[in-house]
Amino acid sequence: MSEYHQQTTVEVMEKLDVTYQGLSDYDVQRRQEIYGYNELAEGKRTSTFAVFFGQFKDLLVIILLVAAFISFLLGEVESTIVILIVVLLNAILGTVQHVKAEQSLESLKALSSPLAKVMRNNQLVEIPSEDVVVGDLLSLEAGDYISADGRLVESHNLQINESSLTGESLAVSKSTAPIQEEHVPIAEKTNMAFTGSFVTNGRGVVIVTAIGMESEIGKIANLLDTAKEKKTPLQVSLNQFGEKLALGITMICVAIFTIDLFRGRELVESFMFAVSLAVAAIPEALGSIVTIVLAFGTQKMAKEHAIIRKLYAVESLGSVSVICSDKTGTLTENKMTVQHVYVNQKVIPHDQLQTKHALEKSLLIKGLLCNNAVERDQNEIGDPTEIALVKLGKQYNFDELIVRNLNPRIMEIPFDSDRKLMTTVHQVNKQTVMITKGGVDVLLPKINRMETSLGIVTVTDEHRNKIEEVNHDFSANGLRVLAIAYKEIRTHQAIDVQDERDLIFVGLIAMMDPPRKESKAAVESCIKAGIKPIMITGDHKITAIAIAREIGLLKDSSEVIEGPEIERLTDQQLEERVEGLTVYARVTPEHKIRIVKAWQEKGHVVAMTGDGVNDGPALKQADIGVAMGITGTEVAKDASSMVLTDDNFSTIVSAIANGRSIYSNIKNAILFLLSGNAGAIFVVLYATVLGLPLPFAPVHLLFINLLTDSLPAIAIGLEPHNKKTMKDKPRDIHMPLLNRRVTTQVVLEGLLIAISTTIAFRIGLQAGDTLTASTMAFTTLCLSRLIHGFNSRSKESIFVIGVFSNMYTWLAFIIGFVCLHVVLFHPALTSMFEVAPLSWRQLGLIYGLSVMPFLVNQWYKVLFVRSK
Ligand code: ATP
Repeated sequence: MSEYHQQTTVEVMEKLDVTYQGLSDYDVQRRQEIYGYNELAEGKRTSTFAVFFGQFKDLLVIILLVAAFISFLLGEVESTIVILIVVLLNAILGTVQHVKAEQSLESLKALSSPLAKVMRNNQLVEIPSEDVVVGDLLSLEAGDYISADGRLVESHNLQINESSLTGESLAVSKSTAPIQEEHVPIAEKTNMAFTGSFVTNGRGVVIVTAIGMESEIGKIANLLDTAKEKKTPLQVSLNQFGEKLALGITMICVAIFTIDLFRGRELVESFMFAVSLAVAAIPEALGSIVTIVLAFGTQKMAKEHAIIRKLYAVESLGSVSVICSDKTGTLTENKMTVQHVYVNQKVIPHDQLQTKHALEKSLLIKGLLCNNAVERDQNEIGDPTEIALVKLGKQYNFDELIVRNLNPRIMEIPFDSDRKLMTTVHQVNKQTVMITKGGVDVLLPKINRMETSLGIVTVTDEHRNKIEEVNHDFSANGLRVLAIAYKEIRTHQAIDVQDERDLIFVGLIAMMDPPRKESKAAVESCIKAGIKPIMITGDHKITAIAIAREIGLLKDSSEVIEGPEIERLTDQQLEERVEGLTVYARVTPEHKIRIVKAWQEKGHVVAMTGDGVNDGPALKQADIGVAMGITGTEVAKDASSMVLTDDNFSTIVSAIANGRSIYSNIKNAILFLLSGNAGAIFVVLYATVLGLPLPFAPVHLLFINLLTDSLPAIAIGLEPHNKKTMKDKPRDIHMPLLNRRVTTQVVLEGLLIAISTTIAFRIGLQAGDTLTASTMAFTTLCLSRLIHGFNSRSKESIFVIGVFSNMYTWLAFIIGFVCLHVVLFHPALTSMFEVAPLSWRQLGLIYGLSVMPFLVNQWYKVLFVRSK
């Protein structure tokens, strides 16, 4: 039996039992039952069970379990029970957090999974690539990732990059002709397309022959390592910091243990205390807080149309100082409508064309032929520039499909933003006509004749000047201008880009793409936030200036540069000028990477948007590559770290605001954890140095660890977005999270908590017994840490940001407060938790002391932290 590449397209279609109408729903279902889904097997995910047991791998937990065992042997069953409960609750909490975070990251991934365009039930539809089945007709165009192996049945200049399979970085030209030999290496199967490769140029259709693990890449691929998300730089540095801190705390605990022993305290008691102190003081939650806050933060961003593909991007977002944005579709609506045409040397408004005039009709018809867009029942499919031409045709009762049927297309050189041209060849009556449309600047040098009412004449300088003048006037009004030209060619003449010359000029078509209404405010908010917005466009300079001015992006025309001029600059020269440039016109995707690099050389963190296949390198080079979700190609999405589901510039700005909030929430949560823990250590050190009794029982420390660590920290991590974050300058990306200021704050806030706790302890000691003293110290430490949660919400006073604006902090506080009082007052628990009954006076005193750190903190913030 011959291989697919040896068969003709008809044979392949017959064999796979498909027609050009594509598969029916029934076919798809049947094939899915037989062949399964188009998926590559992934590495195993950790089960919830394994995550739960993973919580017991921690050295501290193991030590605690040993301690529980020792207590049990010594007959202290109550201690054993408490320790076990604490360990279990900790593990449950850890598991829930882990699983929740995983789930939300997982759903994020699903949002950005690739799509495929297939013919089904005689209609072209977009489906998730895992639903592609053998026999599907897969439509391919530049920028598409190929989601299954298949035999080509149509190819128009189709070029595919197969480097993921063959290692060859140059794209391969594809055709539909059968290949004779049976054993051909993949690289030479030029009539087949393979999973994992992508289209760099042209268009084509393949009939799917293999999916999932049956595809060529499936056969060679090891299990995809997608199960584990790589840790972000912040997580890594926090984990490292956590390890160092743990070492420091362990040393302190060993010292306290030794001193206690030296002072004659019992071995077991000293050991239990040292271990509990270590558990309470080591912020195990450090790394997981980051994951949780990032996971919830990215969920929120996805709802606001920004899908994060690479988690580390969230951290860099807050440091973005330059946003390089495409104009069309991102700053503008991407809804083009024709305003004017220039034909027969006259400018005519779009609604005053006369189709009885041959030249005006010729312009309309050619605009419909050199065009792939379709409009049916208000449904628009295709490039907005081309849709505008289709709509213009409809205005004069020319249906694009009828016109195209009457003048069948023989071939096409697809549009590409480097050439800025598109060419099609048609059978028009008995002649073969080549039609080219594209940017005026590139098409004008390629014409040598023009259509006039007197017939076709040679183009003079005067004609050219007039065309340029009209183009300038159109552009100055912010219009995108297309030129249309044609020439007759020999029948069966194969053409390529070299043939786009000696053309006959027909006319110009000027279309309006209004700026998005949100753009102006978003640009303004960027500037206020110290972020420089940059506009990049393939359009003419004058068009770019008009739009840039309208949205408040451009002050001075000297800040504009054009592609050809960039070409003349060396990288060094571009770098010198880059900070003075705001608008880049007539650029090609290749320039984008140079622009990104120039800004990065100047020490900036750059976000760059992109949609086309050639935007990949610039998107990868940028610190934040932003792909368009609607108009973007799969290749662009794959190269990006963030995808905008609404293609809107203002979404980038709100994503940056979210990024800034998320980072500061993480910082605040960590500040909370560290300052509270520092408080506990200070009290113990104080008591040890002065030779006082132990201020806390081990069970107190375990209880505090359980209640005042994770819950309030997560609540702080969920602090709602504060509008004022966009009034700060971007954060210096090289500034470590735990810088000197933060460390000082940890120590000072820790001291405040420690002072309150020590006062309570001393008052308790004066009252006589050590049990009352440690109960008072424990209650004060626990409560003041819970209240301190409100301090850590922001660097501003809680009365400025709103006492009730983060209800999670209240929830965490109330849970903690209730649990603490249950332990203090429930008769069954008092002995288990080693607490003495407190008088109302003592309790009042504790409340007062616990609010002290809060009051001092708020007093400082109200007086010294300037509100913006
Ligand atoms: P921007 O760069 O502003 O985001 P864009 O990505 O749509 O816009 P390109 O698509 O590169 O820019 O278009 C550049 C130029 O190519 C346009 O100014 C226009 O003259 C021409 N052009 C755009 N679309 C087509 C098309 N479908 N056929 C022919 N020429 C086109």
